[in-house]
Amino acid sequence: MASLALPEKASSAKFFYGRITRDEAEIILKERGCNEGLYLLRESISPLGNYAISICHHNKVHHYIVEKQVDGTFMIPDGRRFQGPLELIKFYQNNPDGFVTRPTAPCNRGSNQTPVAFRGMTYHDLEKELMQRAKSIKNVRMDKAMGTMRDSLIKMVAKDLHLKMPWYHQRISREEAEVRLLKDGHQDGKFLVRERDDHKSYALTLSSKLCPKHYFININAEKFSIEDGPKFECLIMLIDHYHNKQDGLACKLTRPVCCPKYDKDKFKSYIDNSTNNVLYQSLQNQRHSFMQSEFDDPPDVPAPSPPNMQRRQSGSSRRPLPPVPARPPEEWDQDNLDLGAAPDIQISIDGDNLEDEYVKVRRESKRFQLNPSQIQLQDKLGSGQFGSVVKGVCFLGKKEIPVAIKTLKNEDYKPDQKPEIVREAEVMQELDHKHIVRMIGLCEAENIMLVLELAPLGPLNKYLVKNKDLKQSEVVLLMKQVAEGMTYLEARKFVHRDLAARNVLLVTERFAKISDFGMSKALNRDSNYYEASEAGKWPLKWYAPECIYYFKFDSRSDVWSYGVTLWEALSFGKKPYHKMKGQAILEFLQDGRRLEKPETCCDEAYEIMMECWKFEKTHRPSFSQLSLKMKGLYESLLAQRM
Ligand code: AMP
Repeated sequence: MASLALPEKASSAKFFYGRITRDEAEIILKERGCNEGLYLLRESISPLGNYAISICHHNKVHHYIVEKQVDGTFMIPDGRRFQGPLELIKFYQNNPDGFVTRPTAPCNRGSNQTPVAFRGMTYHDLEKELMQRAKSIKNVRMDKAMGTMRDSLIKMVAKDLHLKMPWYHQRISREEAEVRLLKDGHQDGKFLVRERDDHKSYALTLSSKLCPKHYFININAEKFSIEDGPKFECLIMLIDHYHNKQDGLACKLTRPVCCPKYDKDKFKSYIDNSTNNVLYQSLQNQRHSFMQSEFDDPPDVPAPSPPNMQRRQSGSSRRPLPPVPARPPEEWDQDNLDLGAAPDIQISIDGDNLEDEYVKVRRESKRFQLNPSQIQLQDKLGSGQFGSVVKGVCFLGKKEIPVAIKTLKNEDYKPDQKPEIVREAEVMQELDHKHIVRMIGLCEAENIMLVLELAPLGPLNKYLVKNKDLKQSEVVLLMKQVAEGMTYLEARKFVHRDLAARNVLLVTERFAKISDFGMSKALNRDSNYYEASEAGKWPLKWYAPECIYYFKFDSRSDVWSYGVTLWEALSFGKKPYHKMKGQAILEFLQDGRRLEKPETCCDEAYEIMMECWKFEKTHRPSFSQLSLKMKGLYESLLAQRM
């Protein structure tokens, strides 16, 4: 029988995570190794007052409801009664019959990880609210209010908690709700709640497929519900529920649109993360402890020598250079190209959601040929060498997916030649990587249209010019992704031939994709490089010497371009070699000189650039080596909070 002493507070246990879902519990336990007997305690999402224990056995997670009984005690189905869930766990630690295995190893939270009461609210915050309210209840002792009366107290407090939530926008019109959602950037699952004009009901405004959807929140007998959905004691519980389950909505809720009166920073982890705070924090903690251990125990290698900043050391193994070609290849006039900035209307899309959509599309549609009726054109995104690019929607079965549509300029169409855009499509249809813009299809109407994944934030160089407050680590993360995409190309023997910051497009601030395969080539099986038969209009500032002298291209010449792209990124969109032209650049390089270290760039990053610009291509790293270097650089910058 249960002891008569007061139960221990569940929230005092380090293995208590608050109101997280079963799936979230599984992720946490699996992250920690899923060892036999590893367990955690969580509070049931509903009904209020119940708990659940998640425990690992034979590499699987099992879940037990710890049900609150009418007499205030707790038990697992068919088990004994206990004063509280902690007493219950202690008992089963010494008694084999109960769970599939004994709860022997608590899965404790990280040091900066607090249990979650509701999305955007920790247990600690909730306890404070409860205490305040408990104090105001006359004639009731605090211990009773916080003990046996706790559930009713939570209900009382929770009724007003929405007023403290960033998603609650008070009384605004439907139109204003739509404007706020649009301004914040559409993204599946973004939402806000507003009070309706009648002062008696609320509405949920939810972003789905770049459109606002409105749901009426009904209040009946003091219970809140959305049509045909479950009923809740209060608004905050309803919102929590729809974070966990779609339950008839267009999609699950993910991130709140923050009401202007709130300080966004206070709710940062809630606003920034489409999943639960706990998950986010657990991943952060893992990373933190990983880096800590790297810090405590530095690898046994000599400190790197300072990079060779400007001039090549005399006496280095420098191969005699061929004379500068009398007529070097023509250089593009980069400055006069309309590379298109990020679109004016701000559409921000969750990289992961969009990525899932495109992966599914690629897997499901075997044919790339699209019918004109499947495409709807919208605003212009930019224009490149061969034509313009517009935003649009592509209808595939029941799906409507956001796309970018590249159209060939009419004057560039030569009936006797395969259009450039078709050659680009032929390369792209072979590629499938998350950091490479995927081709959705080709549509031959009046103009030939190449339909691509949309990268709503546009080219990296333009983005960085406007967003100079990005941290170095954030820029390096994007360039690490570019290295990963290039590693894929390298492994598949594709040369890009036009890698530059203007051709790195951003899906979000943390998700980059390589684009523009207009100049790319697949190498023959028995050839390690592509040799151009004649010089074309080439982006010389990004080209390795062997491309200019011998017209030879391979992954190591892409590595040179990667170095220039990294320089552009860490210079926040500056133009390389300033106003120098082709011939002057060749002489500059021949002289052993290189682009200078960007102002805010760390030595390690510059060292990577310098390796990419080794004159002898075999001395340059491969992309798979670069990916590792960039990963290391990213982690070290994160650890230094740079
Ligand atoms: P390109 O012809 O590939 O050089 O593209 C020209 C411009 O169109 C780029 O600089 C971007 O501004 C825009 N653009 C091209 N592809 C996309 C895409 N997939 N998503 C978003 N914008 C794009």
